[in-house]
Amino acid sequence: MLIDNHGRKINYLRLAVTDRCNLRCHYCMPAEGIHFAKKNNLLTIEELKLLAGTLVDQGIDKIRITGGEPFVRKDLMTLLRYLSSLEGIREISMTTNATLIGPYIAELKSLGITNINLSMDAIRKETFEKITRRDQFDVVYNNMMALIESGFNLRINFIVLENQNEQDIIPILKLQEQYPVSVRFLEEMPFNGGSKEFQAIKWNYREILEYIRGFYPGFEKLESPPTSTSINYKIPGHEGSFGIIPSFSRTFCGTCNRLRVTATGDVITCLYGKPKMNVRDLLRGNDPVPSLKSAITEVIGQRARTGFEAQEEHKGVFENSMTSIGG
Ligand code: SAM
Ligand code: SF4
Repeated sequence: MLIDNHGRKINYLRLAVTDRCNLRCHYCMPAEGIHFAKKNNLLTIEELKLLAGTLVDQGIDKIRITGGEPFVRKDLMTLLRYLSSLEGIREISMTTNATLIGPYIAELKSLGITNINLSMDAIRKETFEKITRRDQFDVVYNNMMALIESGFNLRINFIVLENQNEQDIIPILKLQEQYPVSVRFLEEMPFNGGSKEFQAIKWNYREILEYIRGFYPGFEKLESPPTSTSINYKIPGHEGSFGIIPSFSRTFCGTCNRLRVTATGDVITCLYGKPKMNVRDLLRGNDPVPSLKSAITEVIGQRARTGFEAQEEHKGVFENSMTSIGG
C-alpha cells in the first residue's frame, strides 16, 4: 500500500497516454500547440502496461486514462484491454474530449469501463468552436448522446470561462434535468502552456453556485466520497446532478489520493507542483520493477501537504499545459 508522508493513502493513478490533442482549447494550450514531446520520449504501450501493472501491485486500484486526447493514440485499446484484465483494479475511467470515442463505445462497455468524464465547455456550437478552435461540436454532441444511451456513468466537465461560456451554464445544466448525467463546473486554472497569466478568477465556486441558485433555488447538497474533488448537488425532480470543482481555490488537498504520471514518464505527486522524477529510463532499464517500486515509494514519501505549498515550486507563472499533465 502507498501511504504518503501526511498519512494519505494513494490508490488513484491518473495516467496520461499522450500529450497530443486534436483540439486546441485555449485555456489548455496556445493555437500553435505546445512543444510536444518527441515520439521516442513517449512511453510505449508495453511500458505503460508495465508501469500500471507495477503500481497496481503497490496498491493503486483506480486508474484514470487521460492525455492530451487519449484516443489520438491508435494503440490505446491494447492498454485498456490489459488494464481490465488486472485483478487489483476496482475502477478504470477515462477523461476525453469525445471527438474520437465513437467507434470504441461498445468495446469500452464490454471491458467494464463505465466512468467517462467528457470535457465540453459549451452546449452551443458557436461557443464550442471559439473555445476549442475546431469544428467538432456535432461529433462530440452525438458521441455524448451515444454514451448516455449506452448507459455510461457520464460526467460532463465544463470550465466556466469569463466572457466566453457564461451564457451556456444554464443550457448545459439542463442536460442533467433530462438525463442521468452529472454536469460539473470547474474553476479555470492557469495551466495553459504559458499563454495567459492570472492571479484570480471571476468564476470561483461561490460565484458559480450563486449563479445557479438564481435559476434553481431549491437544490440540495449531496453526500460525496471524502476523496471527491467536486461538491455535488441535486435539483429535486431532475434525473442527474451537478457539481462544482474548486480547482483554483483548492479545498480538497486534505484527502488527496492521487498520483499522476505523464505520457513521457514524469511523476507528479501534486497537480500544482513540478514533476518529482521520471520513470522512463527505469522502465527501459534492466529489471525495472524493483527500481520502479522503490522510486515511487520514495517520491510518495515526500509529497507537499497542499497545492498551495507545491505551487511555490513554480516561482510565479505556470508554464506547463494540461495537455501534458492530464488534468
Ligand atoms: N483531452 C481530454 C479532455 O479534454 O477531456 C483529456 C485531457 S484534458 C487536459 C483533462 C482535463 O483538464 C479536461 O477536463 C480539461 O477541461 C481540463 N483542463 C485543461 N486545461 C485546464 C485549465 N487551464 N483549467 C482547468 N481545467 C483544465
Ligand atoms: Fe485537448 Fe483536452 Fe486540452 Fe482541450 S482540454 S486542448 S481537448 S487536451
